[in-house]
Amino acid sequence: MYPQIKRRKTREVLVGSVGIGGDNPIRVQSMTNTDTRDVKATLEQIYRLKEAGCELVRVAIPDEKAVTALKEILKECPLPIIADLHFDTSLGEKAISAGVSGIRINPGTFKNKKRLDSLIKACKERGVCIRIGINAGSLEGDLLKKYGHPTPEAMVESAERWLEYIVSKHDYYNLKVSLKSSNWWHTVRAYEIFSEKWDFPLHLGVTEAGGLIPGTVKNTMAVSYLLLKGIGDTLRISLTADPVEEVFVAYEILRNLGLRSLYPDIIACPICGRCEIDLMKLYEEVLAYARKIKANLKLAVMGCVVNGPGEAREADLGIAGGKGVGIIFREGKIIKKVKQEELLPTFFEEIEKFLKQHPERLNV
Ligand code: SF4
Repeated sequence: MYPQIKRRKTREVLVGSVGIGGDNPIRVQSMTNTDTRDVKATLEQIYRLKEAGCELVRVAIPDEKAVTALKEILKECPLPIIADLHFDTSLGEKAISAGVSGIRINPGTFKNKKRLDSLIKACKERGVCIRIGINAGSLEGDLLKKYGHPTPEAMVESAERWLEYIVSKHDYYNLKVSLKSSNWWHTVRAYEIFSEKWDFPLHLGVTEAGGLIPGTVKNTMAVSYLLLKGIGDTLRISLTADPVEEVFVAYEILRNLGLRSLYPDIIACPICGRCEIDLMKLYEEVLAYARKIKANLKLAVMGCVVNGPGEAREADLGIAGGKGVGIIFREGKIIKKVKQEELLPTFFEEIEKFLKQHPERLNV
């Protein structure tokens, strides 16, 4: 059972062939953390992100060399690329000529409006989606003076200023907006205020959220709160970690809200004194396997045969450890007892068998 969420209706925009907003599913995106000038490393990371379920990827364009590398990356890239721009609009125009599908601009870092006009014109000519990416850390000076701090209201005013400018001066609507702060509650408030007034799709996330655990917690608090209220059309879970983890966290949040599912859900016991098997290792191996099969399944990894199957009654398939042996259960019933070394291969075979009988569970 999941919460009933009524998604706020937003206008649909396109980043390449990927629709965001409207009736589209909530899109998962990430950003490479390689040096963009290193074509091989960047492409390798993009392939890993795609394999994990990422649908859009952002890359930093810090200089001319990065633009040259971008041309090579675009030849092979399996995902639409969004160029991340700060300070220098001319790099953006070059990235657009190279064929990116989207750009992210941080208006607070652009001082020259004429050059910004030229960048917006280039986007309009090619249908390139623009994300107005407001960051609490780089708000315009006059707004900081007016509000005293980078408050949610100041962030919203900054976004509105640029949105109105692009819409009224350029009559261009292929736009989405983000309003990120490293304070999760400021982030929430900024999106709430904005979404009461505008129907442009929203890219959610908390910025500079930290490593895997603290970053996941901060992002989950803000993103879940907003998604429960129907706000949000695409996510990036910023983490100081391998960006592939950002994608896994995004899907965990979406699955737990009943909004989107890609991987099996794994129920795992916390381990207690009854456990006589290396359950941590078993769990890691089942998790790695589950992240490759992309199916709507509930798997269980339990420490003992005494309580395991009962505790994981809701799982489609599960394993429970014993001394030198393990059992495999399916839909609450024990179906096999095998030696410990045969436990995982047999379990994976049973999962494959289950999926052959239930192809509707595959997310392909
Ligand atoms: S399943 Fe067994 S080992 Fe795991 S917490 Fe429950 S009683 Fe302990």
